[in-house]
Amino acid sequence: MWLRCAACSHQWPYLRFEVRCPRCGGDWLDVVYDLEAVRQRWDRLLRQRPFTMWRYRELLPLRQDLHIVTMEEGGTPLLRAENLGLMLGRPRLYIKDERQNPTGSFKDRQASLAISVAREAGLQEMVVASTGNVAISYAAYCARAGIQLWAFLVSSAPADKMREVALYGAEVIKVTGTYDQTKQVAAQFAERRGL
Ligand SMILES: [Zn+2]
Repeated sequence: MWLRCAACSHQWPYLRFEVRCPRCGGDWLDVVYDLEAVRQRWDRLLRQRPFTMWRYRELLPLRQDLHIVTMEEGGTPLLRAENLGLMLGRPRLYIKDERQNPTGSFKDRQASLAISVAREAGLQEMVVASTGNVAISYAAYCARAGIQLWAFLVSSAPADKMREVALYGAEVIKVTGTYDQTKQVAAQFAERRGL
């Protein structure tokens, strides 16, 4: 795997977690994979693997398997929507049922990867801003990884969701404001604490 800066196209081997391009300081970094090597491996391996998101391990930007934080997210069922399909003239319409993920939303996919990368980077404390589901998901995966989470939630988030975040052991901070304002407050908090 390599990292490539979207601003200046500088590319270098992905050896450690980085958030900025060393050449220009750009903060949009793409991961570049050896797709030909992946194709050869997958021909042989893909069908033998459990049906979770980590089945596609080669295209997930984590360096070492031992840092994977998973609760078997992904691999959710495809439900055939027969009636809706008939109404829309699409007889083979399927709905991907992402409620079947560990905390009940597709956010578990990004949380599994993000918390794995955070653990690999040696992070012990994190901040997240959310309207609900992201905080629940990150709180669950942080609990599993032993990372302390500060979850900034918009005050309009349902009380049930806030309780669920707290149940996983995260610190919940309710912000009276919009999601953008909540993100600002969370970013200021993170900067003050050096997180
Ligand atoms: Zn750059």
